[in-house]
Amino acid sequence: MPIKVAMCPHCNKRVFIRIEESDISPVRYPAPVWVIHKNGICDKLSTYYVDSKLGVSYNAPEKKEGAIKTLEALDKM
Ligand SMILES: [Zn+2]
Repeated sequence: MPIKVAMCPHCNKRVFIRIEESDISPVRYPAPVWVIHKNGICDKLSTYYVDSKLGVSYNAPEKKEGAIKTLEALDKM
């Protein structure tokens, strides 16, 4: 199931993110991916860390190193 539910660290709203294996570099886990909460209000970038099963472990409200893609987080799917 590639759609993950997480909390945006900027606005603390629930967001939905579609994460595929090709979105992360599998050099080490948890692997970072950049995510923009795209809803016209927040629109801020965070770094989400996902495990080898593409589950979101934690996130940070900054742009951290090591990600290879920027994904969109949406308020609903
Ligand atoms: Zn947000």
